[in-house]
Amino acid sequence: MKEISCKLLVVGAGPGGYVCAIRAGQLGIDTVIVEAGRPGGTCLNVGCIPSKALIHAAQEFEKATHWAARTDAIGISVEKPSLDFSTTIAWKDGIVSRLNSGVAGLLKKAKVKYVQGWAIFRDGKTVSVETETGEQVIRAETVVIATGSAPVELPFLPFGGPVISSTEALALKQVPQQLAVVGGGYIGLELGVAFAKLGAKVTVVEALPRVLPQYDAELVRPVMKRLSALGVEVLTGAKAKGLSAKGDALLVETADGKDKKIAADHVLVTVGRRPVTEGWGLDQIDLDMAGRFIRIDEQCRTSMRGIYAIGDVTGEPMLAHRAMAQGEMVAEIVAGHWRSWDKRAIPAVCFTDPEIVSVGLSPDEAKAQGETRIGIFPFSANGRAMTMQGEDGFVRVVARADNHLVLGIQAVGQGVSELSAAFSLTLEMGARLEDIAGTIHAHPTQSEAFAEAALKALGHALHI
Ligand code: FAD
Ligand code: NAD
Repeated sequence: MKEISCKLLVVGAGPGGYVCAIRAGQLGIDTVIVEAGRPGGTCLNVGCIPSKALIHAAQEFEKATHWAARTDAIGISVEKPSLDFSTTIAWKDGIVSRLNSGVAGLLKKAKVKYVQGWAIFRDGKTVSVETETGEQVIRAETVVIATGSAPVELPFLPFGGPVISSTEALALKQVPQQLAVVGGGYIGLELGVAFAKLGAKVTVVEALPRVLPQYDAELVRPVMKRLSALGVEVLTGAKAKGLSAKGDALLVETADGKDKKIAADHVLVTVGRRPVTEGWGLDQIDLDMAGRFIRIDEQCRTSMRGIYAIGDVTGEPMLAHRAMAQGEMVAEIVAGHWRSWDKRAIPAVCFTDPEIVSVGLSPDEAKAQGETRIGIFPFSANGRAMTMQGEDGFVRVVARADNHLVLGIQAVGQGVSELSAAFSLTLEMGARLEDIAGTIHAHPTQSEAFAEAALKALGHALHI
């Protein structure tokens, strides 16, 4: 048995843990990070990155398929395209491998010691790790728990065989002919749209009255339109009940109480993710919980001194950039800097077609706080959007009525994920409608719709 001591121990090398360790290393803190899987965690290996690679490949394939089927105003025609899905998956895996090496290299550069294996807490400051070369005991002055999250399993649709989670969906050997998706949230719709574009017949089964319930109906409307154009069937208010006896169909109770059988070679269950709080000795340290999650304060401190928790294990929103921001902050706190969670907004992006971005308060949330001014500018009036055939969608700015302070910004449209930076900066800087309207936005760009939405809220939009 080997023993090492360090100032900081980070458990889990997802976006929360690895960013924390890199920043700690940069600050000269003697840091060890333990990871059971591969560097980069869920996000890099089976989440954000591989899903966006698949979404991109699907988008390109669908474009080519579209042009093969018709020649319209743009004047392009192509031969019928074909898809070598194993090459697509190999390309996606190549990106993941490059980033795995990148994270490992960054940790090394920051002089962080990387221990491969599953960590189990013996007490609040000691973990043991079963490594390839035997047991490794690590003692630390300060510990950061960054154990992340895992897919929620439905008891009547346990994972295995045709029932898969996003992890298996991102590593399929071939495109399913018929794919049933249970849960019309982020993952269900991002991957559902991608597989539909790759040629699968996709059916989405959502328990609530509408898909993407985390966004308001106005934002989701263009996505619904596109789902219909792609032939994706959406059953809302529907209950998945289990797999057929032969395992070749999903049994569903529809909103009107009727039984329906959806033929499927795979059933993708995407009904949320749960924090990873089991199997690593949480009971040994007995931390206070906030529901299923580890309870933290505004500095990511848990109920036990010297133990911090970051990322998905600490709650919503379960997003990589939140985990990273927490990780960076905790490293600086451990180094003695004064930091606390002062973010005004955590942007959320859904990589559907079209994409959705939301930062800050929705119109309803803002109205609940007082009088508002809301400006909406459609992409149908934006020159750049027209040149990209991306006229469906809009930018919406929500501000206080009295002093015009911007409280929230949302957009739906082709490629709007890249506008999220401008939206977040607006909220972080405490900008007012006049600040956005008074900023020169390059022409022709989709970002002009942002300035126009602010002008609209002020009552004098120029291009509508
Ligand atoms: P994780 O990334 O889950 O990492 C935790 C790590 O800890 C894992 O590698 C695990 O192996 C390790 N670990 C756990 N316990 C132990 C232990 N006892 N010992 C050793 N190691 C341990 N978010 C976005 O912001 N944008 C997106 O586009 C996006 N797309 C997604 C797509 C999919 C399909 C999925 C599943 C998720 C997506 N997410 C996205 C969410 C994002 O992946 C998570 O929010 C993010 O990974 C959380 O980071 P984390 O560091 O908290 O945990
Ligand atoms: P989600 O919370 O986004 O969606 C789950 C959906 O399943 C909801 O619409 C819910 O109403 C529905 N549902 C729950 N139980 C059901 C049932 N029994 N039958 C039918 N529908 C049911 O969860 P997810 O899609 O699994 O994603 C998990 C998390 O991963 C997200 O919350 C998000 O934090 C993160 N994520 C983010 C991105 C991104 O940032 N672009 C992409 C993917 C995942």
